[in-house]
Amino acid sequence: MHVDFDQARYRERSLWLEGCASLKPRPTISGDVGCDVAIVGAGFTGLWSAYYLKRLAPDLRVVVLEREIAGFGPSGRNGGWASAGIAASPKVYLRRHGAGSVLRAERETFATVGEIGRVAALESIDCGFVHGGTVTVATTRPQLARLKASVDARRARGFTADDVRLLEASELDERVRVAGALAGAFTPHTARIDPARLVRGLADACERLGVMIFERSEARRIGRGRVECATGAVVRASHVLRTTEAYTTELAGEKRRFLPLYSLMIATEPLSSAIWEEIGWERGETINDQRHLFFYAQRTSDDRIAIGGRGAPYRLGSPIDEVNERNDVVRERLAATVRRHFPAARDAAVTHHWGGPLGVPRDWSMAVCYDVRSGLGWAGGYAGHGVVAANIAGRTLADLLLDRQTDLVSLPWVGHQSRRWEPEPIRFLASRAIVGVLGSADRHEDTTDRPARRVRLVAPFVLPR
Ligand SMILES: Cc1cc2nc3c(=O)[nH]c(=O)nc-3n(C[C@H](O)[C@H](O)[C@H](O)COP(=O)(O)OP(=O)(O)OC[C@H]3O[C@@H](n4cnc5c(N)ncnc54)[C@H](O)[C@@H]3O)c2cc1C
Repeated sequence: MHVDFDQARYRERSLWLEGCASLKPRPTISGDVGCDVAIVGAGFTGLWSAYYLKRLAPDLRVVVLEREIAGFGPSGRNGGWASAGIAASPKVYLRRHGAGSVLRAERETFATVGEIGRVAALESIDCGFVHGGTVTVATTRPQLARLKASVDARRARGFTADDVRLLEASELDERVRVAGALAGAFTPHTARIDPARLVRGLADACERLGVMIFERSEARRIGRGRVECATGAVVRASHVLRTTEAYTTELAGEKRRFLPLYSLMIATEPLSSAIWEEIGWERGETINDQRHLFFYAQRTSDDRIAIGGRGAPYRLGSPIDEVNERNDVVRERLAATVRRHFPAARDAAVTHHWGGPLGVPRDWSMAVCYDVRSGLGWAGGYAGHGVVAANIAGRTLADLLLDRQTDLVSLPWVGHQSRRWEPEPIRFLASRAIVGVLGSADRHEDTTDRPARRVRLVAPFVLPR
């Protein structure tokens, strides 16, 4: 009975998890285990780390501990954008590492989109991978100014016209008809995926390589050489990796490492071919806009629109809670976005609504860390941009742990330290201000077509540009 209840709960976490063939949990850890590497968290970061470690060193004994099931967290719930672009503010890394290092990091993210597709094909993971790029639209003049500025900024950092370019109105229209779009930009460096099928398939691939995965096995204490589990079992390991992203804030001493901000999504029912003929959107592109609380969308492999956005309120007492995964206001805002921008789909039923917590560091810039002396490592802080970043983090952690002097281990996020968030209630007030001010700025720009200066009020707390 317990298993059936859990499977229903897991299925409800996202459209993607609902579509997985089986969510039957793997065994729970019951006795002490000795291994070379213990990894806590079976999302993309933990599983990519395990995967590359075993590919590079097949004899390594790797154990993964997961509190729920593989892909239970945002890895099984996200927008399915395997998108390039660093999970950070370029400015933050630029100050410390210089322009060349940042461009190298950006180029690594371009290549990683293909790397994810390569492994999916190699391991026969049917995750709907389509390398179709991203179309970004602007629907007001302030959005258009930001769109142009963002293309210019990327070109100034060394991107070419093949990496990102503005789209002529006719070219945009030929790809996808977004009502109200004044202009668009295109980058080819994104693939659309079904994230749950990728992360669950990756867990299976890890097992085939000999990784031991324990599910419903919560780590209570993560320390040098050992992980203590809620069941009382102890995993002894020479190396211990913590890959728990936003959930890290639930661990002792880690509360202020990230701001756990929620991102929420909806999906429509599958749309008819007549509707798709009106919309276009035939090449698997992902689509977003330039609002401050921007939307991100994909056409799913079963012909739905799956669309997400921020804006869910942060709750002081329980920042991470399943109650936060659904919110009527955000659901309606996303449904209205579908109606406004894709009027052909205005009568489509919204069949799914879900969400999950993002791990947002104080400077919005990810880190991959490994301490040779203690054998402890961790990676995360992707702030909602973790699909590609987690693959890079997994490869980098594998190289660091195996002492391989590759290009990856000198990328700017390696060893990066973000300062901690302010204590509550400041972190709470900051998160409320981010959502409140940015939402009101979007409304102002939509109605007046003029830039909202109020965004400066939250500048100290948002991604430094
Ligand atoms: C709605 C939404 C949409 C998003 N869209 C995109 C997108 O389109 N593209 C993109 O790049 N990123 C997106 N993201 C972000 C992306 O999903 C994450 O950055 C990424 O999945 C993080 O992977 P992870 O493995 O580091 O963490 P997670 O997926 O959070 O995995 C951590 C795992 O650790 C487990 N765990 C936690 N605590 C313990 C413990 N004590 N013991 C054992 N196990 C534990 C959890 O159960 C979880 O399975 C989105 C996120 C959300 C919520």
